[in-house]
Amino acid sequence: MVNRRDFLKSASLLSLGALAACNNKETAAAGPAVEANSTDKYFGLQIYTLGNELYAGNLADNLKKLKSFGFKYLELAGYDVNTNKVGGVDFSEFKKMANDAGLEIPSSHVNAPGLFSGVAGRESRDGSDGQFNRSMINKVAESFKKVAEDHAKQGIEYVVHPMMAYLNTEDDVKAFAEMLNKSGEIFKAAGIKFGYHHHNMEFARMVKGVKGFRLPTVLTPLTAADGPMIMDLLMDNTDPSNVIYEMDTYWTVMGQQDPVVWLQKRADRIKLMHVKDFVVLGDSGAMNFQKIFEQFYKNGNKYLFCEIEDIDSGKQMQRVEASMKFINAQPWVK
Ligand code: MG
Repeated sequence: MVNRRDFLKSASLLSLGALAACNNKETAAAGPAVEANSTDKYFGLQIYTLGNELYAGNLADNLKKLKSFGFKYLELAGYDVNTNKVGGVDFSEFKKMANDAGLEIPSSHVNAPGLFSGVAGRESRDGSDGQFNRSMINKVAESFKKVAEDHAKQGIEYVVHPMMAYLNTEDDVKAFAEMLNKSGEIFKAAGIKFGYHHHNMEFARMVKGVKGFRLPTVLTPLTAADGPMIMDLLMDNTDPSNVIYEMDTYWTVMGQQDPVVWLQKRADRIKLMHVKDFVVLGDSGAMNFQKIFEQFYKNGNKYLFCEIEDIDSGKQMQRVEASMKFINAQPWVK
């Protein structure tokens, strides 16, 4: 059985394999980005990227700084259902500061309250009681009601669930899909679109007769004959009117998958995008951003959020600025 932490850890060691699978010569050969000369791109930031740097000093000033880099909108992280605060700041106050800085907030990441605490998830200590199961579906979905209410009050268009629960069997995956579906109904009733954000483990397959899931690698690719892919099970077992999907370019590649292929075959499901590279956008050459963006726009979508890991680096604001510089210099970004 592969647990989430080992899975993510081993996935991060697959960088070379992912590069081999997904390296795009066109992108790599496109040459160095020219100096940014445009700030009219419609592009956003997932604020998780900045970690505590967003709140260091003065939040309002930091938001204005993001606007000056060229960002037009934000996706929130750090909303607390118990306090209705974002990063410790009253939700409406946060929104006003963002709007005053010229930034819209179309989306927010929120884990189902209670899913990852106590007996229900990844924070469990002994690893034996952290599994998602059918008995939790209604309770977890219900716990989203307050989330929906708080976000509706602020006029947020999307709420996105950012993380998969512990799932051991194909039935667990289907139960999790049902939870997402029921949650989507709750958000829909509040006038909000509900989405799911994946990592790499959703591209693993549930191998018949084996507890847990298996991650494909370059050396050990998996096919449909090995068992169903988690991502397909989630998409096929959720109603498109209840659950949309937010693609993460980096985690798709880490799952040994091509983002463009998924954007083509699941055009009706993928509506939001995390634009993520190994660090600063465009630096690795491993992400086929031009083709990804072109397909994303062709599908009729508009919200693209820069995201960078390593949030405690102390360099996130610089990395975000450099990433926006890359974006501003690309003629294929609208
Ligand atoms: Mg992401």
